[in-house]
Amino acid sequence: MAKSDWCPRQSWYRLSGVPESDPQKKHGYQLENIFDEGHTIHDKWQRRLWDMGILDGMWGCLVCEHKWWDTAPQECPQCSAPKRVLQYREVPVDGEERYLIVGHEDGLVRKSLVEVKSIGQGTLRMDAPDLLRANSVEGPKGRKIYDLDGIWRDLKSPLGSHLRQTNIYAAILIENGVEIDEIVFLYEYKSNQDVKEFRVKPSARIAKPMLDTALDIKYALEKNREVPRPGDREKTTKGCKECPWQTTCWTDKESNAKDRSPSDNAAEAGEHVEHRPRRVIRAGASAAAADRTAGAPRRRRSKVAP
Ligand code: SF4
Ligand SMILES: [Zn+2]
Repeated sequence: MAKSDWCPRQSWYRLSGVPESDPQKKHGYQLENIFDEGHTIHDKWQRRLWDMGILDGMWGCLVCEHKWWDTAPQECPQCSAPKRVLQYREVPVDGEERYLIVGHEDGLVRKSLVEVKSIGQGTLRMDAPDLLRANSVEGPKGRKIYDLDGIWRDLKSPLGSHLRQTNIYAAILIENGVEIDEIVFLYEYKSNQDVKEFRVKPSARIAKPMLDTALDIKYALEKNREVPRPGDREKTTKGCKECPWQTTCWTDKESNAKDRSPSDNAAEAGEHVEHRPRRVIRAGASAAAADRTAGAPRRRRSKVAP
């Protein structure tokens, strides 16, 4: 959802339970490695904030399975199990009822939402291609040679998809009554493990258009109507080529009404058709992965932060 080329129609297909016409390949070994490395970096920063005694969020006890909201606990309040068998369950973001959106933020420290990101070439290729271009030269046989330190030096603000993701989460958390004054990005660079911190204020201007689109999708699902194809799509654009519903989408007659909004469709809708959405939209970086593993068992629903 936070990707710049997010297609609401694709989310609508997934939520409607339409079988994939073009199932995508499962993750390769390299991608699994990238995900695991990302998890390790998150664990490291969360552990440090926990040891500092300032990490707020949801916690779980591996002994008695108790779950509770707390600040850096040292033992389970229910069975007194020690810290080593406690797990940080992050900051659950529950916007399922209103937007069909759920997710987790990496941390909360004194009203600052914390987002940890490992930054590598892949992230920057998607989110900051100009930065890569400005720090590369053409080498032998036309190969690109990157100035890795230069890329890191010139990264001076959070990346677009990270801003969109955290602002969706921040907006939902604020609606749920969690106090948030700022969003802190901790960026760790894969090539030299250096770290940068960026701090921004939550922005309703960034979150609102995406939340409005999520409401459109929900409305279309409730009325059993279609979400139109975004006007700038071609069958051959990258997002469509990798879409699990590409064939269905481009052979579906109704989808040619691409300039109609779900609200337009709904205005003409007949009787109400009961329709239960099967899954939720995920705003985080693993949304693409979630799309690829459609059909996997649904994650356990999180509790709402107080
Ligand atoms: S094929 Fe393209 S337009 Fe259609 S749902 Fe997929 S991404 Fe969206
Ligand atoms: Zn316990």
